[in-house]
Amino acid sequence: MTGLLSMAYLLAGVFFILSLSGLSSQETARRGNLYGMVGMAIAIIATIAAPEVKSYVLLIPMIVIGGAIGLRLASRVEMTEMPQLVAMLHSFVGLAAVLIGWGGHLSAEASYGVVAQAAEHMGAHNGAEAAIHNVEIFLGIFIGAITLTGSWVAWGKLQGSISGKPLMLPFRHGLNIIALAASLIMLFIFVGHPHGALAIVLLLLMTIIAGLLGIHLVAAIGGADMPVVVSMLNSYSGWAAAATGFMLGNDLLIITGALVGSSGAILSYIMCKAMNRSFISVILGGFGSDGGSAAAEDEEYGEAVSINHDEAAELLKDADSIIITPGFGMAVAKAQQAVAELTEKLRKEGKEVRFAIHPVAGRLPGHMNVLLAEANVPYDIVLEMDEINDDMPETDVVMVIGANDIVNPDAIEKPNSPIAGMPVLEVWKAKKCIVLKRSMATGYAGVQNPLFFKENSAMLFGDAKESVQALVSKV
Ligand code: NDP
Repeated sequence: MTGLLSMAYLLAGVFFILSLSGLSSQETARRGNLYGMVGMAIAIIATIAAPEVKSYVLLIPMIVIGGAIGLRLASRVEMTEMPQLVAMLHSFVGLAAVLIGWGGHLSAEASYGVVAQAAEHMGAHNGAEAAIHNVEIFLGIFIGAITLTGSWVAWGKLQGSISGKPLMLPFRHGLNIIALAASLIMLFIFVGHPHGALAIVLLLLMTIIAGLLGIHLVAAIGGADMPVVVSMLNSYSGWAAAATGFMLGNDLLIITGALVGSSGAILSYIMCKAMNRSFISVILGGFGSDGGSAAAEDEEYGEAVSINHDEAAELLKDADSIIITPGFGMAVAKAQQAVAELTEKLRKEGKEVRFAIHPVAGRLPGHMNVLLAEANVPYDIVLEMDEINDDMPETDVVMVIGANDIVNPDAIEKPNSPIAGMPVLEVWKAKKCIVLKRSMATGYAGVQNPLFFKENSAMLFGDAKESVQALVSKV
């Protein structure tokens, strides 16, 4: 039976690897998802069928209830709320690691008095093995608690219930270092005295400190750096799962945790590079940043020019080359279908239409690609920022659809801007730029956008879907 279980776990692991490789490109993403689902089904069935699992009366109703809640939540969630769902799911992994760590310690404590003590006295207890196991418990709870509370704060920031501004406590890096050092000292004491009241107090203290550290680390990361937080918590949740795997001696959890942990870390690194941020500085929370200068917002920008649907349609009709830059607002308005229709119509007129995708557009890595793929926009006209940014000056019209931060010239032109240094789509370099949004409101980073006031910019106010639909009928 154990051999069969190992085989099943291995198979599930292979499916997870295939899934990751499938998810690396849009054409194979659907297949990648399917592999992931098959792998997870194998993993769950094999785990339930394992000989150690006996309490089916408790297990089956829990799976049914948990599965039903998951199914309901996931099917009801709006595409724009996906990041919050992901943050919430990360928090569950963290919570599981904390509970399993505590469960492992408490059950070892319960049996210690009866069996282990006698065995230890007889010299049967392997000291090194026990120490390693205790380190696993400690680290599992530590990483789990950081993931748990960090994900809660990330959820709040993404939901808008917590301010997106970075929390800049005085001596904040010192606080993190003290928390880490204190946890490390407690780890050494815990490994030396893993039983009794002292061990419980140490674990409890560490859980609280790690929880506070999770809150502080994520609270210190602000506005435009949030994408990295999401992928970083993804990575943490993987390491928490791997630590749990070591704790339980479960190979599949170790494999899966390592896959999630390392892919999350790689994604965080890619996002940091895309945003011109140092990986370490984002992890440490706003390192080297003074929280930006959102205060310098009273600046005079002048008047923005507003145009109507007919005028916008005329601009499109006159253009030979058009670049569409979608952002979070396209997701909010669910405008992707209308955008695809407009694209098709313009292409039929013989115009060159391409999409420029910023790496952090929307609220999830790949958010815009997913929406455009869903609306069947051909992949070959959807280009990454680096592939298309240089073409802006030769472009007749750029249509910015519900994007804001990712097209903000201040990122390049204003060194004290909170988004300074982040590469952006240089849409203002095009001959004409039409911005579709509902108002003059700021984007996620909460900073004003001088693009709207540039001479070659024109605002087309209104819901993106309605505006694009109007353009479809007029072009
Ligand atoms: P922004 O959030 O900067 O701007 C979106 C704009 O869309 C808003 O200014 C809003 O203006 C407009 N909008 C909202 N609803 C509608 C609608 N129904 N119709 C038309 N317009 C609408 O989005 P960007 O995509 O430009 O930038 C992404 C931001 O999110 C970056 O700061 C990034 O760092 C951050 N982020 C990204 C994550 C990722 O992984 N991609 C994760 C977390 C954060 P108005 O209200 O006037 O309509």
